[in-house]
Amino acid sequence: MDINSPVSELPLVGPVYQKRLEHLEIRSIGDLLLHVPHRYLDFSRTVAITHAAIGDTITVKGEVMSFNNQYTRGGRQIEVLQLQDNTGTVQVVWFNQSYLLNSIHIGDQLAVAGNLTWFGRKKAFISPEYGVGSTGRIVPIYPETAGISSKWLRARMRDVFARLTPLSEFLPEEILRAQGLVNYWQALTDIHFPQSLEDAQNGRLRLAFNELLAMQTESLRKKRLWQKHHTAFKLQVNKAQLTGFLTSLPFKLTPSQSASIDEIQTDLQKDIPMNRLLEGDVGSGKTVVAASAIFTAFTNGYQSVFMAPTQILAQQHFDTLKQLFAPFKIRIALVTSAGIIKDLGKTDVFIGTQALLHQKDLFDKTALVIIDEQHRFGVEQREKLIKKSGKKTSVPHILTMTATPIPRTVALSLYGDLDISTLKEMPTGRQKITTWLVPTSKRQAAYKWINEQISSTKSLAQVFIVCPLIEEGQTETTISVKSAKKEFDYLTTVFPNLKLDLLHGKLSAKQKNSVIDKFKSGITDILVATPVIEVGLDVPNASIMVIEGAERFGLAQLHQLRGRVGRGSAKSYCLLFTENTSPKVTARLTAMQKNLTGAELAELDLHLRGPGEIYGLRQHGIPALKIASWQDFALIKKAKEVATTLLID
Ligand code: ADP
Ligand code: MG
Repeated sequence: MDINSPVSELPLVGPVYQKRLEHLEIRSIGDLLLHVPHRYLDFSRTVAITHAAIGDTITVKGEVMSFNNQYTRGGRQIEVLQLQDNTGTVQVVWFNQSYLLNSIHIGDQLAVAGNLTWFGRKKAFISPEYGVGSTGRIVPIYPETAGISSKWLRARMRDVFARLTPLSEFLPEEILRAQGLVNYWQALTDIHFPQSLEDAQNGRLRLAFNELLAMQTESLRKKRLWQKHHTAFKLQVNKAQLTGFLTSLPFKLTPSQSASIDEIQTDLQKDIPMNRLLEGDVGSGKTVVAASAIFTAFTNGYQSVFMAPTQILAQQHFDTLKQLFAPFKIRIALVTSAGIIKDLGKTDVFIGTQALLHQKDLFDKTALVIIDEQHRFGVEQREKLIKKSGKKTSVPHILTMTATPIPRTVALSLYGDLDISTLKEMPTGRQKITTWLVPTSKRQAAYKWINEQISSTKSLAQVFIVCPLIEEGQTETTISVKSAKKEFDYLTTVFPNLKLDLLHGKLSAKQKNSVIDKFKSGITDILVATPVIEVGLDVPNASIMVIEGAERFGLAQLHQLRGRVGRGSAKSYCLLFTENTSPKVTARLTAMQKNLTGAELAELDLHLRGPGEIYGLRQHGIPALKIASWQDFALIKKAKEVATTLLID
């Protein structure tokens, strides 16, 4: 047996258990070893039964004096056990689990851990955690699933460790010592059979390190592999022409926009194809930076392909670029599931959604691929687009873009294979958006205020109202659409004299366009939208953003949503509605009132929320870690150091 063997090689694991284990994503022995306990019961520290008080969560240990099936007056079957130590006795009760009679016997030493409550007139533990014959043991509690208990898993772990040859260490001894990490096999042993909680913790740390190291090594490896590519598209930058384009823009570039454009233009002139990520808050002006790259491809006689995650965004880019490129006679086509819109003759830029992937022989001379909101696409989609473009022997230049404000540590682990350009500042003239926390008690007043802002001829405000986040995910589900419709119906009763509209992902492309057009042209006063509303939506008239159930969002997500307003000249506001008044939530949401960037808020959120509460990270395409946590800043740094050292050799 080795770590690649299927779990079915273990005793007692037949097709039924194999299937159940699959629910825990356990298929091989290796998967099983990496199924780490989420907590431990410390049976080594117990309380004398006589000192056990109602309401305490404690562990007691003693001898089983009796154990049998009984029936309650309601006819329910229960299992009742008397446990005795040398200070007293206590009852232990289970419901409808008669199979326990096969594993616990009179005379056994038994430890139970749980909450002591009343059962009838007696003190009892009800359905506690327990360990038979455990003397001074630390018992792991595993993530379970239907039909797979921790107890069963513990027994399988014993089987694995009895059969498997110890795995050899793959890191040099000096590195382990320098980084204070325990040996790999030791770590696995300590996680599943710890002598102390500290051992278990150190074992876990080592496995977390392995996970992060694998990620870092993989991205470094990808980077080196990429650097082996040669491009057939070594471009020339015509300074005068490029300056002509940049000065034709209706605004002055920000310093970061200029710097990013320089970095990109330098990349385009190299033999190695560009593989660059452009990150910048919503509204920081990534589109024109992308446009400058398209421009250079164009002046070299090549085509560009620009893929956006949604039809709305593709349309918006199409409109923007059409305008910017008009003086230069650059021909643009829009490719969506609705078909292709193009001028006659050769096309210089294809803008579109995933529909681009289904086009045959569309690009004959593509030197540049741009992917907007890159995390919204799967790896395969990105790769397919890259393969379709370019030629058999060469790879086009790639520019990916993201507005995902993620902490630097996370960015470096996730995007270690890419070069990164960052737009650090917002275009001038952007105003700070006044942000208020609105508890339930102030809700009606807030609605009244919104009504006034919309109705007053002075402000003529337009408002976004974002529905609460119901489920995590990047696509709309029936449930979130239903709740948005409900919210919409409710709001039409709150604002009977205003024009409301509803935007969600289940609308057809045509319907979405019509909703957005009506909002952009000022016909709609309030646009009610689901949380997946297009991150890049640019509606300069909108000046008020209301976010329902704000506590459910990550700070970075709130920041992105807020970025929909404050784009025009009107004073803009963001109202965070929450019914949760806990100090923790209030403190977290109050951070939105400080003048922080998206990345700073993301970092802060990671610190403020406990491990396991990384709700929202996945929304941004940040993968869930199995053992490590994105909060392990120090460990992430170590992994990066070690990956670099290892790959040098
Ligand atoms: P994002 O980074 O979110 O994709 P966009 O490229 O959509 O941002 O830009 C947001 C808005 O800011 C657009 O209306 C764009 O024309 C404008 N903009 C971009 N750069 C500047 C600048 N340097 N000065 C003023 N406005 C700018
Ligand atoms: Mg954008």
